[in-house]
Amino acid sequence: MKNIIILGSTGSIGDSSLSVVKESKDKFNIVALSAKSNYKKLAKQAKEFKPKALCIVDDFKNDLESLLDYKPKIYVGKDGLINLIKENRACLLLNAIVGFSGFLPTLEAINQKMDIALANKEALVVGGNLIMEAIKKNNVKIIPVDSEHNAIFQCLKGHAKREISKIILTASGGPFLNLPMEDFSKISIEDALSHPNWSMGKKISVDSATMVNKCLELIEAKWLFDVDWKKLDVVIHPQSIVHGMVEFEDKSTILSMSKTSMKVPISYALFYPNYSNSLSVDFLNITEGLNLNFIKPDIKRYPVLALIKDVLKNLGTYPCAFNGANEECVESFLNKKIKFNDIFKFIEIAVKEHKNIKNPSIDDLIECNTLTREKIKKLIEGGSV
Ligand code: NAD
Ligand code: MG
Repeated sequence: MKNIIILGSTGSIGDSSLSVVKESKDKFNIVALSAKSNYKKLAKQAKEFKPKALCIVDDFKNDLESLLDYKPKIYVGKDGLINLIKENRACLLLNAIVGFSGFLPTLEAINQKMDIALANKEALVVGGNLIMEAIKKNNVKIIPVDSEHNAIFQCLKGHAKREISKIILTASGGPFLNLPMEDFSKISIEDALSHPNWSMGKKISVDSATMVNKCLELIEAKWLFDVDWKKLDVVIHPQSIVHGMVEFEDKSTILSMSKTSMKVPISYALFYPNYSNSLSVDFLNITEGLNLNFIKPDIKRYPVLALIKDVLKNLGTYPCAFNGANEECVESFLNKKIKFNDIFKFIEIAVKEHKNIKNPSIDDLIECNTLTREKIKKLIEGGSV
């Protein structure tokens, strides 16, 4: 039995993670679950998996309690989330929180010597230096849940870093791969949320449409695989069957494919270093004609892919500023305060005007995130792009 904690259990990845656990109930014991505000869903999950601890970040403790049929310890607020991690032992924590808010809980779990199954890519984007340092210091593992990184993690098995020539992340291109660029300003929230291949939370759906998701993933890959930024690349692969590939110095390429189901990488991370042999996902039927295409991304369509190179080269607090600006913009787009094509313009301002801090501390990162978000918020309210 593996004792596990799942943070962000009420979201898209949280949901899929619990359904993987449900298929192998004899292998996992759920120690704790958490959500931001969806207490009804958290109560439903709690009644099924009976974790001994829960956290509801927004103050819905009484509402949550009233729906339960047993008495787990209930934590509240951001500090509650950290205390839950400090006070409950597990060997693996799956972090499926979205955004910067997942950073400190990830770091705390590592310091409590838990292995990490990481879906919350923003944690690595903003604080990769501190997270990877803590991983080494505490001698724990980090297993990526993000499908591209999970695929690459598998491709790299048994290979030394010096053998790597290039790490290639695939991108579906999102819903606007073929939309004329002059129509970008008319993109509605519904359009941006309708991803062609994946069903995901709102923020990552918008990030996939703007290609910011791939930028975040390049930084995530930089920290996870520790290669020179020039060895990281992106190709558009509209079918989302190949999730990632690695070219090696001997001119061979290893790639990893599966059906487009997040249950595959989630299961890999939960079972690691073992394998599940009972996952309810179909094999790829490779004789049915997979029709795989790989296209070089058009930088005019996705200028953020050019911007991210400077961020990758310089690191420090640049990724945190990039991420903070994006989080503010996505929220504003979803609240109809800015247009879809304004997102890039504000991120560009945040990056171009950012004063970098090399090797940032936790406080530097919190400050960078807060100040960047405040700055972008002001610009948006002032109506300036
Ligand atoms: P989601 O919006 O569906 O779920 C987010 C979860 O985090 C919810 O349980 C929510 O209650 C919780 N949460 C939100 N804000 C919080 C806060 N401030 N403090 C604590 N908890 C908070 O998101 P998702 O699509 O499941 O994505 C989760 C993470 O996984 C993201 O970082 C995303 O980039 C990454 N990811 C998602 C997918 C996918 O297919 N959905 C794929 C790869 C990576
Ligand atoms: Mg991904």
